[in-house]
Amino acid sequence: MPEIMRLAFKYKLRPNRKQEQAMRNFSGCCRFAYNALLAQEKEEYQEYLEELESRLCWGEALSKDEAKALCVKPKLNQYTFNYALKKLKEEYPFLKEYCHSQLLQQKVMDLYEAFKKFFKGTGGYPKFKKRHSDDGFRYPQGFKTDEDNGRIFLPKIGYIRYRNSRKIEGIPKNVTVREEADGWYVSIQCEFALKPEISIPDIDTAVGIDMGVKRFLTLSDGNFINNLEEKLKPLENKIALLQRRIKHKVKGSNNIKKAYLKLTLLHKRKADIRNDFLHQVSTLLVKNHDVIVIEDLKVRNMSKSAKGSIANPGKNVKAKAGLNRSILNEAWHKFFTYLEYKLKLKGGILIKVNPKNTSQTCIKCGHISKDNRTEQAVFKCIKCGYEANADHNAAQNILRRAGLARMACQANLIRGRQQEPSEAYNSSSIVV
Ligand SMILES: [Zn+2]
Repeated sequence: MPEIMRLAFKYKLRPNRKQEQAMRNFSGCCRFAYNALLAQEKEEYQEYLEELESRLCWGEALSKDEAKALCVKPKLNQYTFNYALKKLKEEYPFLKEYCHSQLLQQKVMDLYEAFKKFFKGTGGYPKFKKRHSDDGFRYPQGFKTDEDNGRIFLPKIGYIRYRNSRKIEGIPKNVTVREEADGWYVSIQCEFALKPEISIPDIDTAVGIDMGVKRFLTLSDGNFINNLEEKLKPLENKIALLQRRIKHKVKGSNNIKKAYLKLTLLHKRKADIRNDFLHQVSTLLVKNHDVIVIEDLKVRNMSKSAKGSIANPGKNVKAKAGLNRSILNEAWHKFFTYLEYKLKLKGGILIKVNPKNTSQTCIKCGHISKDNRTEQAVFKCIKCGYEANADHNAAQNILRRAGLARMACQANLIRGRQQEPSEAYNSSSIVV
């Protein structure tokens, strides 16, 4: 059985007014059901905790475990949730009238999953959903994609047009619709069977990548791609101007609300441009190379902390000192993720190597010294005098290190199999 991977393809929807109203009703109903059931559960759980406490307090139980045995813990399973949803629908008929029952069921399943995580200890207590904050509705079936005409069929809504920005690949499994600051989006989750690793990769195209600040990346073959910062300057200037204007506006006024919305949209546009860029670069690299070598950097996914919400656009981004670093960190994290899954889909190979000293080692003579890098952009070996672009030198070191890593690995394999070592070190069998 091949390994299965899931990927989501996101598109901007172009609904008409009637469709937009329907979507707003759907997401409102789903949020209402979710919050109502959560409130019920919360109450029951609170009662259970209070009963535990009182039994301990009055000496009816001598230990916590004894108390737990005496009290009835609220049962949580799919049936209790489905039953609670049924009751809720009877109590609030508008749920039936304005929403598709499948969507409510999916939402309630989400709540159940959240509780499961909580009881397992892998998640916090489920929170109430607020408007615009990570809520939406999901179709597990019944939708149809019609790519040629750039539209998608959603049950009870009909065909909706969308901005056909990327080809849908794999088999669509479910569809989530969500409202964001600048409109409605659909996210189509698709399933792929991964290809096995290419058994004879084209090693001539193996490439090492050095990530950087001014240059986004430099390849071991000397090619490089500049960072987006220059291109984003005009947009950033606009954002800065708007932020300065907001300071002078009256708090709570309509004017300031409008300005905040505009600011959110600008931030979103910036994020979209960045994301497109990461997709384009990773696609290009994977198309041209079967084997890609990167440094094993400790980059973290920081998207949560840097992202703003509608009410508070980019408030967390204010810490200016760490701003560039965190944005870069986030971009690299995303880039590596994209690179990895795109290579997996192709059957290519991603090799991560130890990043230590890659920028201070001379590719020609192997001499390692801080003094090889007295200037940021230029590498100049103090031993052999070799001079080159610093990033290019580093990328070549990264590529070479992968060769050493593979070589060591192969040598071990061969020792285990008792083969002739000379064959193993034949240059054609070594990647790089
Ligand atoms: Zn040297």
